[in-house]
Amino acid sequence: MAGSEKNYMKKYDTIIGLEIHVQLKTKSKMFCSCDNTGELQPPNTTICPICTGQPGTLPVPNEQAIRWTIFVGLALNCKIADWSKFDRKNYFYPDLPKCYQISQYDLPIASGGWLEINGQKMKITRIHLEEDTGKLLHPTGAKYSLVDYNRAGTPLMELVTEPVIRSASEAKKFCQEYQKILRYLEVSDADMEKGQMRCEANVSIQEHGKWRYEKGEIKPINNYKLNPKIEIKNINSFRAVEHAIEYEIMRQEKILKEQGKLHQETRGWDDARGVTYHQRSKEFAHDYRYFPEPDIPPLNLTELKEKIKTELPELPQAKLSRFITQYEFSPEDALILTSKKSLAHYTEQVVSELKAWLVSLEEVEGTKNEIWKKNKKKLINLVSGWLINKLGGLMKAKNTTMANLKITPENFSEFITLLYQNKINTTTALLILEKMMEKGADPSTLLEESGLEQVSDEKELLEIVKKVVAANAEAVGQFKAGKVNALQFLVGQVMRQTKGKANPEVVHEILIRLLT
Ligand code: ZN
Ligand code: MN
Repeated sequence: MAGSEKNYMKKYDTIIGLEIHVQLKTKSKMFCSCDNTGELQPPNTTICPICTGQPGTLPVPNEQAIRWTIFVGLALNCKIADWSKFDRKNYFYPDLPKCYQISQYDLPIASGGWLEINGQKMKITRIHLEEDTGKLLHPTGAKYSLVDYNRAGTPLMELVTEPVIRSASEAKKFCQEYQKILRYLEVSDADMEKGQMRCEANVSIQEHGKWRYEKGEIKPINNYKLNPKIEIKNINSFRAVEHAIEYEIMRQEKILKEQGKLHQETRGWDDARGVTYHQRSKEFAHDYRYFPEPDIPPLNLTELKEKIKTELPELPQAKLSRFITQYEFSPEDALILTSKKSLAHYTEQVVSELKAWLVSLEEVEGTKNEIWKKNKKKLINLVSGWLINKLGGLMKAKNTTMANLKITPENFSEFITLLYQNKINTTTALLILEKMMEKGADPSTLLEESGLEQVSDEKELLEIVKKVVAANAEAVGQFKAGKVNALQFLVGQVMRQTKGKANPEVVHEILIRLLT
């Protein structure tokens, strides 16, 4: 794909806009008090007269959903409206019980923000709130369809970007970064495979140099006729975001090269076949006959947005740069450690515990910060190495999540101090870590129980080294004759005698001293 991407880039520019719907994980639905976990429940059990649109019922907006939409809007640098309202979007489809969707038309809660991707600010047009629809089921072979309204009325937050995304991989990155923010804010799990986050992409290709971008719109230069944009739906994973757009760009370019004509349409993504297919000719906005929802008064958000501004937590990108500047993790490590809020929090707790421990241990003069500065590099390297590679690997192998990890940050930092003080070698450390995962016990206790504490004491080791030297005259001779490998053999013998507990570096030093 990368090769063909280069080819059409010469002649055509790719223009992508995204529409991303996200289910908010509020307790109740958007306009009624029904349980909002209906997708996990038997069909049509979490419904009421309101979310099934019975005559005479009144919708009442969910305040939590409004707060969370403001929260997301602020996180994405949007302007929050002082006044917002809901509107009816009319269309007929059996999964929509009221024959209209309560959505927002001209006064969305948030507008005009951006999300930084690869150092570029990707403009966001708006974020608004609406309700999800029910689900249609088509049993194989049956002449009827079934409808499950459990999902109808789930709060759905829709983000629309300006047509500023210029490649399939950028689009994927946008979705991933957005998901990370939603998870940090704890407003949605935003799992694409579960339909909690659904991405639609508007894709067009235009001849290079013949269009310009103006006030959120693509405008032709001179007499150039713009190619229509094509909407892709049914994208159910990050991988599919990239593949569907890549496929669509190739398809459109091929048609244009063969002098064919493109029509504005909606296409579905067939993940199994790796192709997009025609679904329907695109409706225009006026088909929906939007009008203000008469049952819900307009919302004044002036006070609420000021309050919510003060509640905004640190966001992934800010945390990432802080992990690099404050703790001096490498950018690669910092990216992994801040990929999940829970992991980032754990890491910070571990570092904080280490700092406290270090100060209590050092006898040297100096302030807390001076002591920390002196030892920081080594400790931070130990933390990232053991947290990302070793603990991360173990957790993956044992299917453990941060939520059910038995190792407390206190115990993990104590474990790091054992490594720092050379009380355990790598092999022992791995054994201890595995036991910590199983039992949740503290590493010192486990180490004592196992009797595997590393021996670094010179006097103790000297006795053993002397014995090994006496018993291995041949290897000693070889080493003295210049064979370096013989020394490794002797170190190995000492390790064997001590059942792996000897500190190999110290043994090495003693041997050199005795034999040279
Ligand atoms: Zn309901
Ligand atoms: Mn929508």
